[in-house]
Amino acid sequence: MTPQPKEIVRRDKIIVVDIEATCWIDEPPPGQDFEIIEVGVSVFDMKTRTPSPPVSILVKPTISTVSEFCTSLTTLTQALVDTGVTFAAACARLQAEFDTKQFMWASWGNYDYEMFKSQCHRFGVEYPFSGRHMNFKTMFAQAYNNKARVGMAEALNKAGLTIEGTHHRGGDDAYNIARILGVVLEKHGDDVLLKYW
Ligand code: AMP
Ligand code: MG
Repeated sequence: MTPQPKEIVRRDKIIVVDIEATCWIDEPPPGQDFEIIEVGVSVFDMKTRTPSPPVSILVKPTISTVSEFCTSLTTLTQALVDTGVTFAAACARLQAEFDTKQFMWASWGNYDYEMFKSQCHRFGVEYPFSGRHMNFKTMFAQAYNNKARVGMAEALNKAGLTIEGTHHRGGDDAYNIARILGVVLEKHGDDVLLKYW
């Protein structure tokens, strides 16, 4: 098969995304499945080198409910996510508000990417991003020459930052990840992004 040419994206911003999903101590109860309940966004501006304030888009789940365990992890409650929008509306808002198809997007690990892909497929919703995704956990490990890939909290530490906001809330996680990106680019230069553009 002929390799597809790489999609060209604008390089003036990187859209950092972090999702929260329904979860349980073990497997989902019968009839339920993992589902996105929050999409957090912080846009890293390559010119000013700053992340935008966190944005949280709450999503009302349709095939699962928020367990006590999930609330204790994320602080998200069923009552709160019931005020959220549909997954389709959340994806539409991403495109309308952040022009998500124009830029590369980044997340910590591949979980967020996999969840978006599978949920778009499952619910017949158009994938809201460009074809450019950066697994920042991998990029970070390479930039810092770490053998082991670290969690976001440890990465903040390594970058000399302290957590802002609430860990395991999408908006705050996205913002903190974008802050780490700022430190990595400052320390290692923009070339660490070369293979991702
Ligand atoms: P995070 O971005 O680290 O807050 O995690 C994203 C999602 O992964 C959470 O909303 C949960 O659905 C799931 N998750 C994260 N940590 C755990 C955990 N310790 N146990 C079960 N699920 C988790
Ligand atoms: Mg998170």
